[in-house]
Amino acid sequence: MTDLPGIYRMVEQAMPERSCARSGACCQFTVTGREPIVTHAELAAIRAELRRQGRNVPPPREDGACPLLTADGTRCSIYAARPMGCRTFFCREAGGVVTARELRDALHALNALEESRGKNKRPPRPLTRALQDRD
Ligand code: SF4
Repeated sequence: MTDLPGIYRMVEQAMPERSCARSGACCQFTVTGREPIVTHAELAAIRAELRRQGRNVPPPREDGACPLLTADGTRCSIYAARPMGCRTFFCREAGGVVTARELRDALHALNALEESRGKNKRPPRPLTRALQDRD
């Protein structure tokens, strides 16, 4: 069973030609019209990173952007623990759309990890909503 850090390494290795400048533009959900979906394992990793930083789960932002952006809205505050949806969304400047074929092995591993966590967990959900749920 590949763990989450191992799965994220698979993602990086599958997309060598992409390069994110970390502008935070794709974290503006109301602007982009998209929001990453997070699995139970990914949500647990984000919460663990927030605890490591001594922070509570941030509330939704009034501007509809990702609650995990820094207060000034320019950077991801949990970058090392960002979920696959954030690792695989690339604007044109960063190298463009990622194909399902590129991600096939990583997605398979993420699904296998999720299956291994049991049947009583919550299904994958949009990030903002998942952060506000208790589990
Ligand atoms: S988790 Fe980080 S990278 Fe992903 S949308 Fe939120 S701020 Fe952006």
